[in-house]
Amino acid sequence: MTDVIVIGGGAVGLCVAEALVRRGASALVLESGAAGAQASAGNAGWITPGISNPVPAPGTVPQALRWMLDPASPLLVRPTLRPSFLRWSYDFWRSTSPRRYSAGMAALVALGARALGAYDALRDEGVEFEMHADGLLFVAHTEEELAAELAALRDQQALGYGGRVEPLDAAATLALEPALAAGVAGGILVADERHVRPETVTSGLAAHLRARGAAVREHAHVDRVERDGEGWAVRLAGETLRCERVVIATGAATGRLLAPLGITLPLEGAKGYSFTDPAPPVRPLRPLYLLEAKVGVSPYDGGLRFAGTLELGSRDVHVDDRRLRALDDAGMRYLEGWRSNPGRAGWAGMRPLLPDGLPAIGPVPGHDGLHVATGHAMLGITLAPATAEILAPAVLSGRAGLDLTPFSVARFDNRALHGRRTTTTRRAQWLESTS
Ligand SMILES: Cc1cc2nc3c(=O)[nH]c(=O)nc-3n(C[C@H](O)[C@H](O)[C@H](O)COP(=O)(O)OP(=O)(O)OC[C@H]3O[C@@H](n4cnc5c(N)ncnc54)[C@H](O)[C@@H]3O)c2cc1C
Repeated sequence: MTDVIVIGGGAVGLCVAEALVRRGASALVLESGAAGAQASAGNAGWITPGISNPVPAPGTVPQALRWMLDPASPLLVRPTLRPSFLRWSYDFWRSTSPRRYSAGMAALVALGARALGAYDALRDEGVEFEMHADGLLFVAHTEEELAAELAALRDQQALGYGGRVEPLDAAATLALEPALAAGVAGGILVADERHVRPETVTSGLAAHLRARGAAVREHAHVDRVERDGEGWAVRLAGETLRCERVVIATGAATGRLLAPLGITLPLEGAKGYSFTDPAPPVRPLRPLYLLEAKVGVSPYDGGLRFAGTLELGSRDVHVDDRRLRALDDAGMRYLEGWRSNPGRAGWAGMRPLLPDGLPAIGPVPGHDGLHVATGHAMLGITLAPATAEILAPAVLSGRAGLDLTPFSVARFDNRALHGRRTTTTRRAQWLESTS
């Protein structure tokens, strides 16, 4: 019998499987489609512990309301009366209080502190992927945006973020990045951040796991997970697999496998878009975050990727051309010599977003041997290996590599979870202690 079945072959599931195998466990990954083909595919690939601010931040809701009717805005809410979305929106709004926001940031900074080391560990293990260590340059056209970003970075430094933060005036920004057009008010170089080509991380992990005898089964959609004596039964069409422990890492779809167990994990897909130009007219030297547009630009060995926008209320990955045009328009405004090309193929993916903006990582109370790892929102690539490093010991020995209280599944209103009162009380204490 396999020790652990990991359901979901995105960046998070594959990293968890690798961390388990590295610790001597046998692991099997089951993936509905092709490994790494969902949210983990077309994203910007930044490893950015310096952007550890939860999505629900003070001011996010009024901003979203102002942008609501503009299909080109960086944050778009598609109106829906779906009850789960209304409830989620209410919880999201509550999470925008300064106290909850800063507690969430502290938790993400603590997890993010392990991000670079966890990527180095993957490299040391022989996992092959494209990674660059050129830092990340924030670029703004207005002093206000620049000041707001610098304040967020300083807040994170106060909470323990250890990366270098170098504010630059307009001349220094243009000197550092000749691809920028005039009009820049200034920049911030966050010098220790890195970026990967995310598709190479998932393909590298899948190849690495297979080479070590761990199967990554694609086109293996899991319908249900059930208790089976001391272990677990994982049901696929026409087949049942048995194992001692299960990790559910099915991204934005994770709630569907937990619901039959009576557990609510209020995940929404926060849709984002990208396009990748294999022969771009301009090539920045390092990743750029175009602050007013909220667009990320990532240079890779084989092209240039524009990624961004956050769309709530959508339930599929249909590519809306207006959102792609918004990415392209940002290129026109910020990059010298950028040219539109409607022929570029677009991509859309669903970031798994919980209403407080923090991931859910750890055991499911009352369901011995069942664990989750999802909800990484804007930071799934940054945090996938670090998540695996802290979760794998919890799966194998019950002792996580970090206090998982802020990430507990039981923080949501789950009457079905045993020990609910204990965990929610611990979370309340954690919120108090970080305020
Ligand atoms: C435009 C955009 C830009 C982004 N940029 C960055 C960035 O620069 N840095 C960063 O850190 N993060 C970034 N992100 C976020 C990041 O992409 C996600 O947080 C991350 O990919 C989530 O990984 P995952 O493994 O949880 O989910 P996924 O990659 O979606 O993987 C989940 C997998 O589970 C499978 N699955 C679902 N249901 C089942 C089932 N029942 N049975 C079997 N398999 C199932 C799915 O097919 C899928 O492959 C970005 C996201 C977007 C959209």
